[in-house]
Amino acid sequence: MIFRTSSLAPLSPTRRLLHNNAWSWSISVHQSTLNSCSLKHEMNLLLTCLVSFLLDFISALLQTSLLSKFWKVMFLKRRCLKKVDNVEEDSRQTSFVDLPDLAIEAVLSLLPAPSLCQMAAVCKDLRSRCQSDHLWGPLVSEKWGQVAGHKAYLDWKRNAVLRHEICIMVQRNSSTLLMTSLACLWPLSWFNMLGGQKQKKKSKAGTPMDSLMAWYLALDSGSIWFPAQVYNREHGHVGFMLSCYDAELCYDRMNDTFRARYPPHGPRTIVIEEGISWHRLRAPPVDTRAHDLHISECLYELRPGDHVEVQWRRNKEFPYGWWYGVVGHADTCHRDNWHCQCHLDETLWLEFNQYTFGSRWRRAAIDRINHHEMGNDAEGFYGGIRKLRTKAEILIWERLWPSEMLE
Ligand SMILES: [Zn+2]
Repeated sequence: MIFRTSSLAPLSPTRRLLHNNAWSWSISVHQSTLNSCSLKHEMNLLLTCLVSFLLDFISALLQTSLLSKFWKVMFLKRRCLKKVDNVEEDSRQTSFVDLPDLAIEAVLSLLPAPSLCQMAAVCKDLRSRCQSDHLWGPLVSEKWGQVAGHKAYLDWKRNAVLRHEICIMVQRNSSTLLMTSLACLWPLSWFNMLGGQKQKKKSKAGTPMDSLMAWYLALDSGSIWFPAQVYNREHGHVGFMLSCYDAELCYDRMNDTFRARYPPHGPRTIVIEEGISWHRLRAPPVDTRAHDLHISECLYELRPGDHVEVQWRRNKEFPYGWWYGVVGHADTCHRDNWHCQCHLDETLWLEFNQYTFGSRWRRAAIDRINHHEMGNDAEGFYGGIRKLRTKAEILIWERLWPSEMLE
């Protein structure tokens, strides 16, 4: 039996080995015939030769272009998938919430209020961060600090939880008052900007009702009235020129102005003024209520030339307003700074230079020693005094100075 060589050329190392084995096998068969070996041994050699031939054939197929293209496609696809995976991993690595806490806090502290609200709607973690008082404290001070004082915030905060509980009771007891109840949730009104009922439900559970964020947004939405004071009330009515009166204020977001609600003056009902600009407002500088006499602690330090505000009201049924004036000299003083002793007098003279000479409102005498409300029905009643200690406070009054002298 003679084994003929394959047409596959050149021979690979494997095939060369098999070829040599086959040649050896041919010699062996020839010798075995001559030596009369067993048939079993020949069959084993034949199987070995066939297996080797199949392996060689498969190896040749792997080198064809079709399989080559197939493997290249599969390999590139794997590379692409891996590349996409890397991109996804990179995007996760640069996510904002994966930054260090200090970096996140630094970024959030630079955001204005609307952006902070939008950021709070991104995820639960950011919502918790964006509601922090330390982020909203500077924002409250920056926008509302001049008009809404700390006392107004404390009053609002004290009533916030109670107001919320009342609203919940209304919701439970009367489904027909649903809209009224939703209106009670004004601290959450910022979610109106974000839209979506789903977001509202989430915020309802997560927004602290008495937080600085809620305080800011309550003011900004114009949904609350807060105590403040208004310069030159009632559009600069001549009867209130260079005065500052207590009122309840409400922000008009559309016009960036305020509405004021003045308490009743005796028989006068509540007066409402619209379109008040920011520069005519201030937070109350003292906690004294409009009908209470302010305790004056500056009486003995006042000297001629000092700028003051004094409580004054037309009659005892009216609330006080704060009126601007300066400390003047006594009639007997020569107004010489070196010899002036007016600061030692028991009588303190207040001058209101916006009134003409001879006007009954031009000067007023205040008792330093036995200070109390002084006056009469003709000239009104003078109450407590506070000294203006900063140039900023004085500049505000000078800016409001009337163009003409008052009678
Ligand atoms: Zn003097």
